[in-house]
Amino acid sequence: MPELPEVETVRRALEIGLETRSVTRVRGRSVMMRRPLDVPLVAARLEGRAFIGARRRGKFLLLDLDPPGSLMIHLGMSGRLLLGDASAPVLDHTHLVLELDDGRELRFVDPRRFGLAVWLDPDDEAHEPSLAALGLEPLGPGLEDALPPLLHQRRSPVKSLLLDQHLVAGVGNIYAAEALWRAGIRPMRYGNRTALPRLRRLALEVRSVLTEAVAQGGTTIRDYATPDGNFGYFAVDLQVYGKAGGPCPRCGGTLKDTRISNRATVWCPSCQR
Ligand SMILES: [Zn+2]
Repeated sequence: MPELPEVETVRRALEIGLETRSVTRVRGRSVMMRRPLDVPLVAARLEGRAFIGARRRGKFLLLDLDPPGSLMIHLGMSGRLLLGDASAPVLDHTHLVLELDDGRELRFVDPRRFGLAVWLDPDDEAHEPSLAALGLEPLGPGLEDALPPLLHQRRSPVKSLLLDQHLVAGVGNIYAAEALWRAGIRPMRYGNRTALPRLRRLALEVRSVLTEAVAQGGTTIRDYATPDGNFGYFAVDLQVYGKAGGPCPRCGGTLKDTRISNRATVWCPSCQR
């Protein structure tokens, strides 16, 4: 599943790759996704418009066009965006194709169809429920000031709170586990039972681990020019996620695996208090 760092890497690549390009034609199939994909509507809005930027909110991508309007994309569980030559073979499960004025195409592939691609008129964005419900932006400024008081009010495990999109958008299971390990906080510890300075440290670690992952993803950016234009997913250096039963990189003790809110959570009983 694409996590926030991958979505941010895709955003950066699209911002560069689509700059000043315009959409000449839209093809696709109106399949059922997280929301119905309305190809005729997307075509009517996109054709003739030019890309002017790419934004991200949580794991939502917003491709901005001129005349104003945005294509909102979520990659869901299995979505990928491919930017490449029109002659590249079209993969199975390609639901939407934007033909560009330089002969390339931006293709949205999503085998499991948990993703979405929706046109937003300028006035729609403020009323878009998916965006309005999102909490703090983890890569935005001031997370270390804004997040601790929110966590400190809650009688829930800190791990569950980090995954709550209404509090902080797009952290995900992998990076929540990593940040808690780095901050030395036990995942099942309740927010309201964790001192504010420790929550501040946690917020800083959330941003650090995500920022490092984005930086690693950025190093693969040259690969985006491969013939299939696959943005791909990248493996980051994870310390604890997926390593239950193995040694803690800090103390050498055995990493445990505990389910919290029905999500697997790896943690170190010695280092995390
Ligand atoms: Zn340890």
